[in-house]
Amino acid sequence: MFIGHFALGFAAKKINPTPSLGTYFLAVQFLDLLWPTLLLLHVEKVEITGKKGLPLNFISYPISHSLAMVLLWGLLFSVLYWLFKKETKSAIVLGLCVVSHWVLDLIVHIPDLPLYPGKSPLFGLGLWKSITASLIVELLLFVSGIFLYLTATKASNKAGSIGFWSLAIFLLVIHIANMFGAPPSNVKAIAWAGQLQWLFVIWAYWIDRNRHTADTSIAVNPKKAAIT
Ligand SMILES: [Zn+2]
Repeated sequence: MFIGHFALGFAAKKINPTPSLGTYFLAVQFLDLLWPTLLLLHVEKVEITGKKGLPLNFISYPISHSLAMVLLWGLLFSVLYWLFKKETKSAIVLGLCVVSHWVLDLIVHIPDLPLYPGKSPLFGLGLWKSITASLIVELLLFVSGIFLYLTATKASNKAGSIGFWSLAIFLLVIHIANMFGAPPSNVKAIAWAGQLQWLFVIWAYWIDRNRHTADTSIAVNPKKAAIT
């Protein structure tokens, strides 16, 4: 799952607009932002199969993707956010966003998601076995997420509009390229490509600074507030 996770980050702004879109992206993609570093450190393992729809075999990823650790990461994210911002509702929503990653991965992965590190049974509902079905589900999630985000926020200026739409299109293009493009050449290439996802987090922080919550309309320049 790729754009489905970001979709949830966009949608979360509708539930609670207080945290930045960047913080939401950090939460929903936390596990996949951690994973490339663990690959580079040889702590977690992946193998390239090159199969269509299932190009990767996730041999072992107990720290980034076991349910027990995910719950812990979610809790840690919540606590850290609360310590910085002293805002309970946002802290809870962000913690749930971290855990949502595992739940969404569960839908698409073949059984490779452990419950806990060590000898755990593996879970996954395997939607990835059907390229069409997984594409439909991710696209539906993405469109819904974007729709909710656009009802929750408005651009304060041109940057807020262009920044948002270019990110949405870029995420979509990467998703399609991941699904239909050639499989990555080696594990290091996967890990470094994964690290590039930090750019989406920075990009989202920047977008958030150029948009405002739709109902409160706290635009910097009210004349430009109508741009969406
Ligand atoms: Zn993941």
